[in-house]
Amino acid sequence: MKTVTCREMGGPCDMAFEGETMYEVAGKGGQHIMTTTDAAHQPMRDQMKNGTEEGKKEWFVWFKTVWDKKV
Ligand SMILES: [Zn+2]
Repeated sequence: MKTVTCREMGGPCDMAFEGETMYEVAGKGGQHIMTTTDAAHQPMRDQMKNGTEEGKKEWFVWFKTVWDKKV
């Protein structure tokens, strides 16, 4: 089980998400992003709504490096 914060996922707040896999945690983080309405999370909401498959792939490649550094 690892914990990743919204901030560590590239977001603006310290909400934390727990999971066994990076996909589980990314899913929880994504749900959190989509329930926000503030300006601070706007860039991440836009990325999730309008992002390309290529962009999402790149995000996961980047997020895997964050995930792998966690113990
Ligand atoms: Zn957040």
